[in-house]
Amino acid sequence: MRGTKIICTMGPATYDESIIKSLINAGMDVARLNLSHGTHDYHKEMYRKIRSVCKELGKDIAILFDLQGPKIRTGLLENHKPIELIRGEHITVTSEQVIGNNKIISTDYSLLPEEVKPGNRILLADGTLELKVIKAHPPKIECEIVRGGILGERKGMNLPEIPIKLPSLTEKDWDDLDFGISLGADYFALSFVRTPEDVIQVKKRLQDKNSTAKVVAKIERPEALQCIDRIIEVSDALLIARGDLAVETILEEIPLVQKRIIRKCNIAGIPVITATQMLESMTEHPIPTRAEMSDVANAVLDGTDAVMLSAETATGKNPISAVEVMDKIIRCIEKDQSYFECPFDEMCKSTSLKQDNKKFHSKIEDTAIASGKAVKQLVMTLSTKAIACFTYSGYSAMAISNSRPKVPIYALTPNENVARQCSLFWGVQAIKLPEVQSIEDMLLTVEKTLITKKLVKRGDMVIIVAGYPLSVACPTNLIKVHVI
Ligand code: ATP
Ligand code: MG
Ligand code: MG
Repeated sequence: MRGTKIICTMGPATYDESIIKSLINAGMDVARLNLSHGTHDYHKEMYRKIRSVCKELGKDIAILFDLQGPKIRTGLLENHKPIELIRGEHITVTSEQVIGNNKIISTDYSLLPEEVKPGNRILLADGTLELKVIKAHPPKIECEIVRGGILGERKGMNLPEIPIKLPSLTEKDWDDLDFGISLGADYFALSFVRTPEDVIQVKKRLQDKNSTAKVVAKIERPEALQCIDRIIEVSDALLIARGDLAVETILEEIPLVQKRIIRKCNIAGIPVITATQMLESMTEHPIPTRAEMSDVANAVLDGTDAVMLSAETATGKNPISAVEVMDKIIRCIEKDQSYFECPFDEMCKSTSLKQDNKKFHSKIEDTAIASGKAVKQLVMTLSTKAIACFTYSGYSAMAISNSRPKVPIYALTPNENVARQCSLFWGVQAIKLPEVQSIEDMLLTVEKTLITKKLVKRGDMVIIVAGYPLSVACPTNLIKVHVI
């Protein structure tokens, strides 16, 4: 059993159904489609392939649509070939849509040439390269290369000194949102969230369109850090987008910010994802650096619910090995007794704090939180093999996941979309079942299902959690210690 989940960004390196199959077999739990890249047709085809492979394998994988948000990017390049920027040399940035080379590159932010001043910094590709503005003569900007390196196509452009006049959700984002809804997206991630209202307006649109998709707020702006508690309150999950966050805030503070956000989400009871450059060197090399291994391990120890791969799987040379490496690191950490002992028992205490501390209004109902903690207590005291949780909305599975019990959590649900959404929750595996009618039916169903799937055997102790009466969606109010 692996508790911490793995999210893979899909792209050219994972376009084949055979690769998607291998990714799932290697441990992918959630597939991310980055709407910053590729056309709707491209993503539609990718979506279809993922669903078809899942059906074949009998796996419930959530598909997360990542909306670009007000991200400024560089343009296309001649022959789609990366260019080399050499320190000290000059390069022109233009708002005209030209095909770039090592003398001129374009930006998709049309106001940029009017807004920059000499001396302003322009950071490229998650801040790896840096330009300094010499002079602007719209639509062109003459720049000096301060930090050189290789620049690919459509890379991010950050302008820390310039207030960007773009709405949090651009026209493209609304269009991409409707596109994702029409396909049946399980999650939407919002890039560059600044305020809780950014999340709320997307939730309204989802409601209007009868979508049950959940909303993940990507934390990558200093404004979001200012109101992080309120963003947590309105979001279904958070994503620590370290790439842009490091460029937009202070690089050396990222490890601390990561720990704080993870802790806040653990306390509030929502899943949190740690992302960007986790195994970056594996885009080129077959094995990761020691530092990258430690990074994944430390995010797990911090209490993250999921870790994410970006270019490693989207365009990298070793997408499958990247997932295998992540899987191995996570399993190794989670096998260690200290993983379950230190942070989560402490966290369990703070979960009770939450009810006193009204700063957090969790989306998990109080009975669900209390049940989650009670289940954890039972798991710690008795030698149980599994938790079987009947859930309509996924919330009770999420609450039990949040208490970090040491045994697998099986979310039994009649809803296919809930089953898929559960794939993001720490330690949760969904099993689809028809609705049960009575307590006897429920017990029989648990026994039959878990035994058939060889997840437990006769004589094993299982904790069963449900809301009673069974035929309606009601909060968790029933816990049964059951011997198979
Ligand atoms: P974000 O800020 O949303 O993370 P990003 O540009 O960093 O945007 P990632 O999803 O982190 O994008 O992926 C890393 C790199 O992989 C991208 O810069 C891009 O070059 C490549 N990539 C990702 N998805 C695709 C795709 N669907 N098609 C082509 N290239 C892709
Ligand atoms: Mg980003
Ligand atoms: Mg990225």
